Amino acid sequence: MERRHFLNVTGAGLAASLLAACGGGGSDPSAESAAPQPAMDRSTRPAVNTGAKSRVIVIGGGMGGATVAKYLRLWGDAIDVTLVERMTTYTSSIMSSMVLTGQRTMSSLSFNYDTLRSKYGVKTVFGEVVAIDPVGVKVTLADGTILTADRIVMAPGISFDAVPGLGTSDKMPHAWQAGPQTALLARQLNAMASGLNHNVVLTIPKTPYRCPPGPYERACLIADWLKVKKPGSRLIVLDANPGIVTEVDNFTSAFMGVHGNVIDYHPNAEVTQVDPATMSLITTAGTFRGDVINMIPRQRAGALVTTAGLNNATEGRFAGVNVLSYASTVSGADKVHIIGDASATTQPKAGHIANQEAKVCADAVSRILSGGSPDPAPVTNSACFSTITMSQASWLTAVFQYNPAWTNPATSITGPAMVPVAASSAASTGWNSDSFEDMGKWFNALMSDSFA
Ligand SMILES: Cc1cc2nc3c(=O)[nH]c(=O)nc-3n(C[C@H](O)[C@H](O)[C@H](O)COP(=O)(O)OP(=O)(O)OC[C@H]3O[C@@H](n4cnc5c(N)ncnc54)[C@H](O)[C@@H]3O)c2cc1C
Repeated sequence: MERRHFLNVTGAGLAASLLAACGGGGSDPSAESAAPQPAMDRSTRPAVNTGAKSRVIVIGGGMGGATVAKYLRLWGDAIDVTLVERMTTYTSSIMSSMVLTGQRTMSSLSFNYDTLRSKYGVKTVFGEVVAIDPVGVKVTLADGTILTADRIVMAPGISFDAVPGLGTSDKMPHAWQAGPQTALLARQLNAMASGLNHNVVLTIPKTPYRCPPGPYERACLIADWLKVKKPGSRLIVLDANPGIVTEVDNFTSAFMGVHGNVIDYHPNAEVTQVDPATMSLITTAGTFRGDVINMIPRQRAGALVTTAGLNNATEGRFAGVNVLSYASTVSGADKVHIIGDASATTQPKAGHIANQEAKVCADAVSRILSGGSPDPAPVTNSACFSTITMSQASWLTAVFQYNPAWTNPATSITGPAMVPVAASSAASTGWNSDSFEDMGKWFNALMSDSFA
């Protein structure tokens, strides 16, 4: 298929299906009509091909890494792409809270790299990256292998702060990186006795953390599940933030309304110490005990970002990037690009955004490697569904546009940023079963775009 045609059709089709999924079930039609086609129409790309085969190493094969590897192969003229990932199978964190309520299996969240290899020619190396040389553009694996390239794209996701007192105990799983901890937390919930004296505790870390609505939607799901499976038991939500951080109307209404007799919400409750032996948490709002504790710690970029010295933003927690190309803003490290949750941008840490950042990055890197410059006006979008009950969901959509001189109202600092476009962003008022169904379609479209 002719390349430009293929890109336009594929890109438009995905954006339309994502936005249609988001917008279905009584959404704001203006959000759909304003939908951009971010980094997808590449008709303006300079047609320069030096003939040399460029090499890119992608570190991390999650939402950001899988997408950037695929689109580098699609959009880069003969770019040789090697994806390095520690696991042979990726487990999606998106939808993983539904494993806790028995509505999803872990295997339904598993994705492999076969199609990236067979259909797009991505080379895969399974192993742990232990170091990178940002200047020499080299990657070192745990087995001593050294890979070299013209560019590195890092998408290592997040790592967690140590929780004081927890040590290596598995009694308070975070289940915030889907995998064994998700299955463990599901088992703990199932094994809990029911009744007034048997409660679950869920903690929410300070922002910025992975998936802003995620802990609130998990709270709603667990609360709904407790009503049926553990009648009389309550869910104590300890939020380190001063209040609900996103979709405030819907979550406030859910916490106080439909789940009012189950959820006990405490803002400004930051965990300072835990004791797995007594299953208690000391917080800035008092001490709490639970039979099951879902302890979600504070987060930072995947460890490799810090090892490489690229954690120059958000008080050293995340990687500062130029959002035209996602190149590191650390001096001398501009051949390393960082996308997804590990990067510090004004966009939420979400899988849909990681997919979008990956496309902007793939476009920029392929332009740079063929002698051009990144698109000067990228646009990204994000669709997000939140489960409010086990069968109903709310939704939120946002469009972000590049602004070279945006003044952050919180800090008064002016600089380039991806800024939400108010007129193209919308949220549902309330929740319903149609949106729950659309959530499944949105998930399938997103995962196909990243892995198939
Ligand atoms: C409960 C929950 C619900 C969520 N729901 C949604 C949702 O509804 N919508 C949404 O958009 N987002 C959602 N998210 C957020 C979404 O999962 C993340 O934003 C997304 O996965 C980030 O993509 P990433 O590529 O940055 O990181 P990841 O997807 O975590 O991928 C990182 C990859 O890097 C690999 N890796 C890391 N370090 C190394 C290394 N040194 N060597 C080799 N490999 C390495 C890891 O193994 C992993 O495969 C949810 C998250 C959670 C926890």
